[in-house]
Amino acid sequence: MNTNSYKLSLKQHNNQTCLQLHQNGLQIRKWFGSFATMVFNRIIRKYSTIKQSQTTAYLRKNQMHGLFTEVTCLYQQALCHYKVEQDLIKIKPPKNYCCIAESLLLHIRMNEIHPSHDDLLCFFLDVYQNRDYKIFSETITLLLNHNLIQVINTTCGKIFYDKNPEPHDHIYFKEHDKLVDCDNETSSFLESLTHVKIDTSDEANIYCISEIK
Ligand SMILES: [Zn+2]
Repeated sequence: MNTNSYKLSLKQHNNQTCLQLHQNGLQIRKWFGSFATMVFNRIIRKYSTIKQSQTTAYLRKNQMHGLFTEVTCLYQQALCHYKVEQDLIKIKPPKNYCCIAESLLLHIRMNEIHPSHDDLLCFFLDVYQNRDYKIFSETITLLLNHNLIQVINTTCGKIFYDKNPEPHDHIYFKEHDKLVDCDNETSSFLESLTHVKIDTSDEANIYCISEIK
């Protein structure tokens, strides 16, 4: 590898996709989730002559400007597509919370998962490396108070966030520590099974599945 080259690699990190940019083995930037995949695919398409594999691409120094222009452009398009700017303008977050609220809400809306509190905190610490926990938790509270997301507490003490703020049933897979949406047909089926624990303490149910045989 030429010393002027930059390496983009798509990996799984803490249960999610992560795109890392390295220069001479030193990591200089990271992107996460669907956004990471979107950036990687765009760069592969744009610089089709670069040496690449399914998950790795090498860029030259003079292609760095193009990379960051694409990242900025894709980020703005995503903010608009997922109506993040539109909803945050309505709630007028304090200035120092704007970028964090934007990036957390976009991350939650773009990805087809219910992120756990720990997943979201890891994302925040990776993106805003010098920030403290207080600003993270205050931003989450702001999004919750304005009904832009909802929080789901499982009986095992696990906390998840949901882009859909309306009450709806969920299934919690204890061993995998995953929360997924549950439609009416699945709810009826799970209610007929004797070994499924049902948490009915909230407006919607959480079906807790401990083991899949
Ligand atoms: Zn949900």
